[in-house]
Amino acid sequence: MSDPGKEEKLLASVPKGLFIGGSWREATGGGLFAVEDPSTGATLAEVADATPGDAVVALDAAVAAQPAWAATAPRERGEILRRAYERLVERTEDFALLMTLEMGKPLADARAEVAYAAEFFRWFAEESVRIDGRYAVAPAGGGRLLVMRQPVGPCLFTPWNFPIAMGTRKIGPAIAAGCTMVCKPAELTPLSMLALADLLTEVGVPPGVLNVVTTTKAGDVTEPVIADGRLRKLSFTGSTPVGKALIRLAAENVLKVSMELGGNAPFVVFEDADLDAAVDGAIVAKMRNMGEACTAANRFHVHRSLAPEFARRLAERLAAMKVGRGTEDDVKVGPLIEAKARVKVAALVDDAVAKGARPLLGGHALDGPGYFYAPTVLTDVPGDARLLREEVFGPVAPVVAFDTDDEAVAAANDTEYGLVAYVYTSGLDRALRVCERIETGMVGLNQGLVSNPAAPFGGVKQSGFGREGGLEGIDEYLETKYVAIKLS
Ligand code: NAD
Repeated sequence: MSDPGKEEKLLASVPKGLFIGGSWREATGGGLFAVEDPSTGATLAEVADATPGDAVVALDAAVAAQPAWAATAPRERGEILRRAYERLVERTEDFALLMTLEMGKPLADARAEVAYAAEFFRWFAEESVRIDGRYAVAPAGGGRLLVMRQPVGPCLFTPWNFPIAMGTRKIGPAIAAGCTMVCKPAELTPLSMLALADLLTEVGVPPGVLNVVTTTKAGDVTEPVIADGRLRKLSFTGSTPVGKALIRLAAENVLKVSMELGGNAPFVVFEDADLDAAVDGAIVAKMRNMGEACTAANRFHVHRSLAPEFARRLAERLAAMKVGRGTEDDVKVGPLIEAKARVKVAALVDDAVAKGARPLLGGHALDGPGYFYAPTVLTDVPGDARLLREEVFGPVAPVVAFDTDDEAVAAANDTEYGLVAYVYTSGLDRALRVCERIETGMVGLNQGLVSNPAAPFGGVKQSGFGREGGLEGIDEYLETKYVAIKLS
């Protein structure tokens, strides 16, 4: 259990201003907003509430820093990232506690996120020196083709709440590629990003390369930056409706865009699956971050022969998970991020139950302070239940039975989303056929976690486009230039 003195000291150490051009400053007009502890509703801290003008000043700083940063040796950019990796790992406990306080996830989950977040810095430290091009003889002879890759230029990020990992997944490749940036953290969890900006300054990121503007007016503040002809790239992690609005704005200046949007992940268990492994995987895929993950398994399609036993075992395991404030010992399930989130989860469960679903476990909010919702398993979920189509974003597992492979694949694909699917089977043929037919950017085959900094993370359909991490991740921050050379 963390002690209140330690929490206070940590919160006091986090800068609360806007980070622009290498220094901390107040918002114009001195506006502030409160950051809440979702497990109690208490205010943790107040941070600067930027105006649209502040965001444009942050872009000015990014634009001014861009030429020198692009000209910095790749090795030097890589070394900065390497130091950032090491320092973040050293400070795991501080960053984990900070995330738990402002986001609610249990400390063990928060530590895992710090490790995951730091790995993006290590991965892109290595990638910074592998940016290459190509040289070729033109097919007709005579001419030569030179293809080079250069930093795209100033970028705008608005990441969500895996508060650190969603940041490092964008900041890592931008630094490696030589891009400067303006980052707007989520208003619900800005402290982790402010602490990260401090850490990046300490390890040598030069003034103006990373600028951070916290605000409650996300749309108003980002709009003038997106409309500014000096911005070159927009990378967004968040919901599909906001992503669509940003794509429309970005179209005006034909910006390079990456979108990591919503999901509706199917978790499919075939009759030849290892049931123990499937239940283990289901716990990870469903309960990581209390179900508040774009990759969260949203619906469980289980072969009819296994469905009752799968639901029973899942309910048994979820019932054993301790719910509470993330800082407490053995807590496995924290609160949801805010009151509104809990209202939405409750509405989706109530809708399913009203249409005939049966709660095997939970199915209700928990009393007391904070935004807690009971881990829930629903069976007999009818096809028209909203939670099979909409992201639940909470600890709720609807189980639906299927009879044939075709039926399972059709159900898995029956959504406008396409981020990730989980498939459990022991048959190689079936595994490959199903992986090929599933319309998602990622598949977890006999495993409930796909996130890996060395792999390309991203979706298809309305889950977005662009990839973060892997060999592909840095491409989002590079432009290709082709030089046609005539030899005499
Ligand atoms: P949201 O889209 O409402 O908010 C996300 C972020 O967008 C916040 O930082 C918010 O300040 C900002 N924002 C809101 N309106 C904006 C605007 N008009 N202009 C610019 N920025 C704006 O999303 P939410 O409901 O808080 O988050 C959950 C969603 O995020 C889910 O759909 C989840 O799947 C998705 N998500 C996706 C990924 C991924 O990698 N694909 C990762 C995490 C979360």
